[in-house]
Amino acid sequence: MHLLLPLLFLLALRVDAKRAVLFAPLAVLPDFDALFGLHRALGHSFIPILVVPLAVVAYAHFRKNEWYAASLVALFYLTSHVVLDLGGVAFLWPIVPDQFFFEPTIAFSASGGVHLDFDIEYGMRPLPEMGTTSFLSEEGAALLLLGVLAAVVYRAEARRALKGLWDLVRSFPRLVRGLI
Ligand SMILES: [Zn+2]
Repeated sequence: MHLLLPLLFLLALRVDAKRAVLFAPLAVLPDFDALFGLHRALGHSFIPILVVPLAVVAYAHFRKNEWYAASLVALFYLTSHVVLDLGGVAFLWPIVPDQFFFEPTIAFSASGGVHLDFDIEYGMRPLPEMGTTSFLSEEGAALLLLGVLAAVVYRAEARRALKGLWDLVRSFPRLVRGLI
């Protein structure tokens, strides 16, 4: 979810595919705050999501124009993560330690005529103590998928890297013989 939705969105917008894949890990990076026992707070707050990336965007805009497109892609990935996490995220952490949640629900009932009910629940709730075990496998799978995608997008580079590695391995006996 965190990885594929924003990546597909960027590709649909015809953002440079290599740049989109290269920066895609940023879309899952916020969840590594679980390692610090501050899941959906430390990595999901406005500081890493908006303040730091916007500073980079501004710096790129005024000082390093060749970074500009990449910095926008990075900002997009980070904000997309929090948007997808709106079910509960401590966006103002550490100023406000509680989680903000926003849950739109659509209820559909067909009894007594078709009836569509749209409801938005939102508010604050205390940051729950979250375990650190369940999330890593999910992110691991996402990063594995990204590795496969990167190998496809960067196939020419990957082939060259493999060939370089193979040449290195092949030259190893000669190298050793030269040494002794
Ligand atoms: Zn998250």
